[in-house]
Order: sequence, then C-alpha cells, then structure tokens
Amino acid sequence: MSLDAIFFDVDDTLFSTSEFAEKARHNSCVAMIEVGLKLELADLMSELSEVVSEFTSNYDHHFDQLLRRIPRRHYKGVNPAILVASAVKAYHDTKASELQPYPDAFDLLRDLSRHEGLVRGVISSGLTIKQAEKLLWLGVYRFLTPTAIYISEQIGINKPNVKLFRRACSDLNLKPPRTMYVGDRLARDIDPANALGMVTVHLKRGGRHATERGETAPTYTIGDFEELREIMIRDFELELPPPRPRAPVEGAPAPAPSAEGADEPADADGPDVEAPSLEGAARSADPRPAGER
Ligand SMILES: [Mg+2]
Repeated sequence: MSLDAIFFDVDDTLFSTSEFAEKARHNSCVAMIEVGLKLELADLMSELSEVVSEFTSNYDHHFDQLLRRIPRRHYKGVNPAILVASAVKAYHDTKASELQPYPDAFDLLRDLSRHEGLVRGVISSGLTIKQAEKLLWLGVYRFLTPTAIYISEQIGINKPNVKLFRRACSDLNLKPPRTMYVGDRLARDIDPANALGMVTVHLKRGGRHATERGETAPTYTIGDFEELREIMIRDFELELPPPRPRAPVEGAPAPAPSAEGADEPADADGPDVEAPSLEGAARSADPRPAGER
C-alpha cells in the first residue's frame, strides 16, 4: 500500500491547544493584576474560564466581558482599556513563547516534506485567519503543500461534514484510500474521513477529547507521531528516518486542565487565539504588521 497524501487536524493534533490556552489565559490574568486589577489570580482565572465557556473560544471579546463581570471597585482608578490591552498583549506574547508543535509532530512533518511527491496538508475546523496564524506560529507551514490547507470557515463546510474531506481530495485529485487523515477526535475527524474511505489515524494523547466516542473505528490508533512514523515505514513503505527510542513516560507531567467546559460548542476544534478586542491598544503593543495579527 502506498500513500499519495496525508492531512492533519491542527488543534490538539499538531500542538496541545488546551495547554497553550491555559498558559495564555494565565498570563493574561497575571498581566491585568499587574496593571492594577485587585483580584486573586485564581478567582480571575475561574471567571475567565466561565466567560470562555459561555461565549465560546472563538469569541473576540473575552477580556471585555470579563471586566464587565467584575465590580468597578476592583479596578478603581485604572482605565479599563489598559486592563483589557494588557491581557490581550500578554495573550499575544504567549504565542511567541508557547505556541509550539509537539516535537515529534514537527520532526515527522519535516521528514515527510522531503518526499516531494507526497501531498502534506491540513483539514482544520475554525476561523480562517486564526487557523492560518497557528500554522505560522507553529513553524510547520513550510513543511506543508501550499494548496493543501483546508480551513472550515474558508471552505464554507465544517467538520464533521464529510464534504469538507471530499473537497480536499477532489481539489487535489486524491484517491481517499491512498490518503491519510490524522486527528484527535473520533466523531469529528475519524468518522467523516472513514466515511470517505480514507486511511484514518486517531491520535490519543490525553487532552480534552480523550473520552469522546465515534461511530467508526480508526484504521490506526497512535499515542504519538513516532508511532505514526513507524506505521508509515512498515505499512506504506515510506522512506523515513527510524522512530526515536521512547523516552520514559513515568512521572511525565499531566496535561494541563482545560479552561473549556463541557458546554463548548460542537463546532470548535479547540480554543482559539483571541483577536485583540481593543484594537488600538493592542495594535500599539503588537510589533507585527496588521495582516499577521
Ligand atoms: Mg483537534
């Protein structure tokens, strides 16, 4: 059996979206306290978690809503715009330090990119700019086939609709049985890809959706990308450097608890990178050109 293409989900597949969001929100709350918000960090974080689950992770004004919920006496004498801007800035700053791919995902994508004939893409659910931005922050865009990036908002079809997967295959003239899809969610990634007849790989790395169920079974289940590398060498005869020996997992830190509640809407793959809510304030703090924010 050989492969013509491999597509990846993004959130909680190429990186730990849940861990990133937790760190970014933590840093935002710390920043608000530093500029004068008088609240305990734990209370502020718990309030922010509620905002995210009530307004969804793709909402653009989490910090404005957070502030509206807090009695004014807790930030007497501080301009609320400064509080919101400090949170937005801290969130953006966290991207630079913490929006990192799983190292084994990065290594596999890099090695796969040496196979020029193999299409390497993503099929991702989310907002166009936010998902595109993640690929750049993660440093994996350079390993992808530029015409193989499918983001639900941009295509107008969302997971788990099989049409999204079919579009990717038909646009690129790919036969589903020779196309692999790797994702962390059974119902939203594996079921639709199975329905089309793709080779499916379920990444079980803990995380928020570990207990979620699907209707169909994946072709493969993996715990990390070294296992996928092994499968590609063994079953698809892809020439790749051999998998690295496993590091002991005992005592490894558990994944950070998610800030998302069970009531996160079904159309979100993962928490998203907040857009600045006070545009002017955030822009002055952000050195990147407007188009990249
Ligand atoms: Mg995912």
